[in-house]
Amino acid sequence: MNPPSDTPPDQPRGPVLSDVSFESLGLSRTMTAVLKRRGYTAPTPIQKDVIPLALEGHDIVGQAKTGSGKTASFAIPILEMLERSADLPQALILAPTRELVQQIVVETEKLAIGQNVKIRGLYGGEPIVRQLRSLERGVDVVVGTPGRVMDLLERRALDFSDVYHVVLDEADRMLDIGFRDDIERILRRVPEPHQTMLLSATLSEEILFLSRKYMHHPIELNLSQDELSVESIKQYYITVDHDRKIELLMHLLEKEQPRQCIIFTRTKRGAEKLGQRISRKLSGVGLMHGDMAQPARNRVMQGFREGKVKILVATDVVGRGIDVEGISHVFNYDIPEDPENYVHRIGRTGRMGRDGVTFLFVCPDEGDPLTNIEMLTGKPIESYKPEGFQAYQKRSPDNREYQEVYRIGF
Ligand code: ADP
Ligand code: MG
Repeated sequence: MNPPSDTPPDQPRGPVLSDVSFESLGLSRTMTAVLKRRGYTAPTPIQKDVIPLALEGHDIVGQAKTGSGKTASFAIPILEMLERSADLPQALILAPTRELVQQIVVETEKLAIGQNVKIRGLYGGEPIVRQLRSLERGVDVVVGTPGRVMDLLERRALDFSDVYHVVLDEADRMLDIGFRDDIERILRRVPEPHQTMLLSATLSEEILFLSRKYMHHPIELNLSQDELSVESIKQYYITVDHDRKIELLMHLLEKEQPRQCIIFTRTKRGAEKLGQRISRKLSGVGLMHGDMAQPARNRVMQGFREGKVKILVATDVVGRGIDVEGISHVFNYDIPEDPENYVHRIGRTGRMGRDGVTFLFVCPDEGDPLTNIEMLTGKPIESYKPEGFQAYQKRSPDNREYQEVYRIGF
């Protein structure tokens, strides 16, 4: 096995694109010019499928792996279809976290350059007064977390009478974190007829239930049935004793010298403790979890985008969907409870065809969750033995529990 540091230096290989042009999808000249300036030479596969169907007014349920350009797949057609004369919001985009809302706002604004479109992010953590005021001034596209949108609806600060386009982005995650009731309440407030697009990296029974209930003959697009994980990502797992995890992490950080990395922990407290311990030895460490105040989270996120924060310690809730090109490594410090989270975590690296390396720390009693991950991705993860580092105590050979973690079924 080649150790990951022997892989050739990271070169952007460019995004995975389809074989058609944006022009052939029936986009306006303004939009194709913006895309060209943005450096998007061709649509990604999900964009190629979603854009023309959305322009025809269809409801869509789309599954595509993370980093495949889902944001532009709904933002482009919506921008093309907005009525210029309206005062009230015409499009509503729901996403699970504040960071994702901000990311969608930024991407949509870039695609709307040259058009007079007002886009507003609505999420908890920012003073509601500021959001109320900007809503009074008029907004065309509302992007928000279900909680804050519901709150503003109840205060009658939002009027959905003119909303025609509804997007549920990262729908699986929104359901995971208990937004189901809010989503259903919001969807009931959007007048008929309207168009709904649901995008997700994974499709569950619950999502299909929602889509059947609230959508009209949605067209299902499944672009990642057999490849849940991205090919440009090299995945390894390492067997490690619980009490050696921190040393192993420090060893790997030293050896791998990540350009930028995210380290995922299972709990907020775990993230805090780990963040503190790493920053005693290294600089450029940032922390993000759901209990932190929004301004602090914004600062860390900005530092991470600018490359000042090199090592981000995060929990799943905030780590999901982050799109920062410099992320060369993802460390699964704690094995994720839900195997789907593994797919989302590792998807933070290898963005748009760049190379990425991921390490999954597996303790001797965590063989089952490892197997569950491999069953989901349909691929065994390669074992990695850190050179010159004893990650776990070898016990008697017949004591299976304490050997290198076994994978059942592969
Ligand atoms: P997803 O939502 O599927 O995880 P994103 O919408 O966050 O993916 O897109 C991932 C990255 O790809 C972003 O940095 C985005 O700017 C870029 N991107 C999207 N579409 C294209 C395209 N057609 N050509 C080049 N880059 C693209
Ligand atoms: Mg996305």
